[in-house]
Formats: sequence, C-alpha cells, structure tokens
Amino acid sequence: MLLTELKPLEQILQYLDGERAVFLVGCKGCAEGCETGGEPQVMEMRQKLQEAGKIVTGYSLIDTVCNQSLTALKLKAHEAEITSSDSLLVMCCGVGVQTTSAVVDRVVHPACNTISLGGAHAEWKDGGHCLECGDCILDFTGGICPIARCAKHLLNGPCGGSQKGRCEISPELPCAWQLISDRLTKLGRLENLEKIVAPKNWSVSLISGPPAKR
Ligand code: SF4
Ligand code: SF4
Repeated sequence: MLLTELKPLEQILQYLDGERAVFLVGCKGCAEGCETGGEPQVMEMRQKLQEAGKIVTGYSLIDTVCNQSLTALKLKAHEAEITSSDSLLVMCCGVGVQTTSAVVDRVVHPACNTISLGGAHAEWKDGGHCLECGDCILDFTGGICPIARCAKHLLNGPCGGSQKGRCEISPELPCAWQLISDRLTKLGRLENLEKIVAPKNWSVSLISGPPAKR
C-alpha cells in the first residue's frame, strides 16, 4: 500500500489557476485507505473546488488507479466530461497520477503527496514510477516523474548527456527529461521548462542513491 497525504488546498488551486473546468479521479485502493482519495474525500474536494469557482465536470472512483488498463477503461466512460475539462485532478499516489496521464491527453494534476511505500508497490508493472519523495512535482513535469526516471533525479533537466532521446547511462533507457519535454509539448505547456525549479525539500523523502527501477 502506498501512503499518501492530501496537498494543501492552496497548492491545488494554484495548479488550477487559469483553468475553468476540472474532472476528479479518486482511488478505491490505497488512497481510500489513507482517506485521501476515497468517495468522501472526492465529494469534499468537489465542494471546495466549486466554492472556489471551478466547474467540476464529473468524477470517477477507480478500484486501483495504478492499474493502467482499468483506469483507461473507466475514464473512457467519462470521455465527454474529460474532453470538456481543462484538466484532471487525481487523488491518489504518484503512480496513479502517471497512469492517468498515460491514458488521457489532458493536463493531470496530483492532489496528493506520496509519503511512503508502506507495503507492496502499485499495479503499474511497466511503469511503477514513484519513489515516494513526499512532495509530488508531477504537475510541473507533465505527469512523468524525474525523481524515479532520471538517473540523477534532476529537477531541471536534461543534464546534457542525453543523446537522441536516450539516457547517458544506457542507450536502452529513455531520457526522462526527453519524455517530459515531449509530453509538455503535446499538452501545450512547454513553457514549464523555462522555469528554474528551486531545490527540493529532500527531508520529506525516503529515497537516496540512484533509482533502482525505471
Ligand atoms: S514526484 Fe515522483 S517520486 Fe515524488 S511523489 Fe510524485 S511520482 Fe512519487
Ligand atoms: S540523460 Fe536524461 S534521464 Fe539520463 S541522467 Fe541525463 S537528464 Fe537524467
């Protein structure tokens, strides 16, 4: 089980700044157990966002958002609501945010910080890309995690060693920052890369050393 905590509402509203409509995704797996993404929390979030002037086009509660096939299937049933939304707000672990991002062509915002593995890892076998850093930055990186997927955990990438979209540590590995760049281009948010990201607060992270899994 991945342990999560909700980000402050102020931070979530900053993510949604300039956006009119949002679709909510909750998780009936770990996030429900953590009381961060179950039905009561999704309903509460819907109310708070509406009070803040946002249109909540709909919501979906998925058994395990980290299961990419299941998430794709469930969100397909909400295609019209998602198409009419500027973005999705995903209330679960970093893996679930990334599976959602992988199956919809919309901006995906994380509502939670993943703070601990707390047990078996999530369902996304091919991905599995969260290192429980405690301060999720997927909003900035287009739903692709540089903490888990860049060999240097870079927050401002790429490093300069990337060649033809591959990581300098192995031609078999994609450069995470190339993936991020491609994704942000697709979302029309490439300007994100013009910002210099401040050093991360690693004291809330459980990880150290190079990533074992990419
Ligand atoms: S930024 Fe990456 S490692 Fe940190 S919580 Fe998000 S997905 Fe996990
Ligand atoms: S080549 Fe890309 S993935 Fe590899 S260390 Fe550099 S920025 Fe990170």
